[in-house]
Amino acid sequence: MTRMPRSVDWLQRLVAHDTTSRGPNQPLIDEVAEYLTGLGVTTHVRPHPDQPGKANLVATIPAADGGSAGGVLLSGHTDVVPVDGQDWSSDPWVATLVDDRIVGRGTADMKGFLAVVLEAVPAMLAEPLNRPVHLALSYDEELGCLGAGDLVDCFAEVGISPEVGFVGEPTGMRVIRAHKSSYVAEAVFTGVAAHSSLTNQGVNAIEYAAELVRWCRDRADRWRTEGPFDEAFPIAYTTMSVNTIDGGIAQNTVPDRCVLRFEYRAIGAVDPDAVLAEAEQFIAGLDERMRAEDERAGARLSVLARVPGLDTSDGPVTRLCRDLGLEILPDKVTYGTEAGMFSEAGVDTVVCGPGDIAVAHAADEYVTLDQLRACEDFIDRLIDLLRR
Ligand SMILES: [Zn+2]
Repeated sequence: MTRMPRSVDWLQRLVAHDTTSRGPNQPLIDEVAEYLTGLGVTTHVRPHPDQPGKANLVATIPAADGGSAGGVLLSGHTDVVPVDGQDWSSDPWVATLVDDRIVGRGTADMKGFLAVVLEAVPAMLAEPLNRPVHLALSYDEELGCLGAGDLVDCFAEVGISPEVGFVGEPTGMRVIRAHKSSYVAEAVFTGVAAHSSLTNQGVNAIEYAAELVRWCRDRADRWRTEGPFDEAFPIAYTTMSVNTIDGGIAQNTVPDRCVLRFEYRAIGAVDPDAVLAEAEQFIAGLDERMRAEDERAGARLSVLARVPGLDTSDGPVTRLCRDLGLEILPDKVTYGTEAGMFSEAGVDTVVCGPGDIAVAHAADEYVTLDQLRACEDFIDRLIDLLRR
């Protein structure tokens, strides 16, 4: 009989924490911090700047000379997507062995990776390493990598600057080195309410918002037909869509408020900040026209999430991947990860972790025992390499 993966115990512990992004992740972080501190690992817990109950964690297993410069970053988010309305065959917060897989929310995305890493910490400590290993656990990744910005700030505060990084999102243990950037923006239109028989006395927030909806669709259509294109992505062009809209209170009242959220995911050839500037310019035009109707009216834009793209070329991390025998995929992916933020901060980063992204947010999410073992082998080989 093949052995049970060593990481199953930690996976059970991690899954038992309901870390749905809307709620706290602190109990999980505290449990990990207690474990690492107990092993003698210097651990920093950084609370969310204004939301109690959320925290990031950074810990370093130093090199033999005590140094924490450079080294390898192993990183994952601790939050998971909601199970609301999903039809689960077992309790999503209990890691349950079913045949050759472990079922539970977050088993693939991405507590499986974290479990493997945490289980391996005593092995990392057992013999001196020639380069440090840094562990980084974040909150609010599923809301648009919101915690990773603070995490990167934390690197500087605690004085670490990892040379290479692995973000353990589920990739089937193959290496992904490029993904699109992903921005989410919110436009708030403030109109002036009036009885709908007196439209001349109101400013219609929905009608102005509709112009932005049209603008987004036109922009998206242009990318789709005219490019630029990058055929390495399954969707070869930059996408944009308006995904929520909220406005109006009654059929006979000119609406004084409309809020919409749109998202775009850009290939490397499209600068997401330039797109944002374009959108801002368009909204400034709407704002001006609204004010011309009534000075109380107006429109403004804010960015809710900003995930930089990832495009890791041949360098330290891809060399390390080859040394570790990992398969590097030629494909680029459309989903964003924290790897983009680490890469922007100077860490040569790839995405590689156990499990299948296709089951990640679904009911009966699972990771196979094989995938956990494959990840354990990867960490074992990494530790081995860091001892030489
Ligand atoms: Zn994830």
